[in-house]
Amino acid sequence: MKRLFFGGIHPKYNKEMSTKVTTFHTIDPKQVVIPLQQHIGAPCKPLVNVGDKVLRGQKIGDGEGLCVPVHASVSGTVVAIEPRPHTSGRRVEAIVIDNDHQDNAIPAVTNDLPLEQLDSDQILHSIREAGIVGMGGAAFPGNVKALSAMGNVDTLIANACECEPYITADDSLLRTEPEHVLEGMQILRQVLKPSRLVLAVEDNKAIAIEKLRGILPNYPGIELAVLPTRYPQGAEKQLIQALTGREVAPGQLPVSVNCAVFNVSTYAAIYRAVRLGLPLTQRIVTISGEAIAEPQNFIVRIGTPFHDLIEVAGGLHDKTERVISGGPMMGFAQSDLSVPVIKATNSILCLLKDENGAAENPVCLRCGKCVSVCPMRLQPLYMYRFTNAQRVDELQRLNILDCIECGSCAFTCPGKLPLVERFRKGKQMVREANAK
Ligand code: SF4
Ligand code: SF4
Repeated sequence: MKRLFFGGIHPKYNKEMSTKVTTFHTIDPKQVVIPLQQHIGAPCKPLVNVGDKVLRGQKIGDGEGLCVPVHASVSGTVVAIEPRPHTSGRRVEAIVIDNDHQDNAIPAVTNDLPLEQLDSDQILHSIREAGIVGMGGAAFPGNVKALSAMGNVDTLIANACECEPYITADDSLLRTEPEHVLEGMQILRQVLKPSRLVLAVEDNKAIAIEKLRGILPNYPGIELAVLPTRYPQGAEKQLIQALTGREVAPGQLPVSVNCAVFNVSTYAAIYRAVRLGLPLTQRIVTISGEAIAEPQNFIVRIGTPFHDLIEVAGGLHDKTERVISGGPMMGFAQSDLSVPVIKATNSILCLLKDENGAAENPVCLRCGKCVSVCPMRLQPLYMYRFTNAQRVDELQRLNILDCIECGSCAFTCPGKLPLVERFRKGKQMVREANAK
């Protein structure tokens, strides 16, 4: 099959596990934990106090600068504002709400103006006030990303590649509510005025592709690009290269090649915010893996603890080895299952054993396989060596900050070196040196 970007791999995708259940189950947790930091940038400050009654959709935290607000995802009572475990591994200040199970919501202000009458400033304001961040994992504030792209892009992309194994949250969204994604794309087109608007999906999502082909004639000017499945096709720079042939230079952003990429869940959230007046208080989450009894996709209120979802999905196998927030390639292992689903949580993966895990005594065989699969054209074997030697100058020369932590090198490494883990450390060393 034609290769549209350099490197990449073909892991076992295991996506059918979570798509066997075709309806979404919802879950109404007893308590939600809403972290005040769910985005890249400055944390929110609480706007409520312990003891306050809140409504679903009420803004409960906000801040200035690079910051978007957070909202209550249930109605109920604030019972604590304190540091709580977070999927990042840190403890993060969070607002804890006891659910009254009444689901009383802030009245939503809908907007059915014709597209051409939607004003850019008003759209960006709605995106910010709804607390929208990149929902594919990046969690960058949506309004800031759109603002920085204004006047600078000719190609606007909707990313539905969802190339990590097991995860089917975006696929499920496209199977059930493709109109919301396409409406969101039209809304952002109003702001960015690109000449090309394209929705990119990998060819392993046949049902979603069929649905999209059926309704696309109602959305003139939106192109559907069906790409050959190859990991990490969904990484921004690889997707841009596959769709446009343009290469984003090391250290540069997509806007440098006149492109902007947003995840399909983000477009659906933009539609809900602008048209339905709904803030980002829920999302689709895949729960999958060999260690969970009933893999499926849920519509989940932000702040729902992982253990609640695991319980509703039938519970964990006795021999569960790892629970991961995200996918097996780029996700983060969780040791505390009280962590809540946040805006960027697309998957909870429960594994019996870590097939891609590092060996006890890893040895580099100098085979060069890691170099041949690295989609960023980096040299993982030397990055590994110089991270261990704490040679920040060499790590900078090797452009380690360009590593997207996709895990392709570790997947293919016969020496089973803990490459990505070391690169996270190496990148931290370089950032600290740059800050000095
Ligand atoms: S793939 Fe692994 S063993 Fe081979 S050169 Fe790279 S780091 Fe070394
Ligand atoms: S994890 Fe980093 S070094 Fe390894 S293949 Fe991906 S981009 Fe390249």
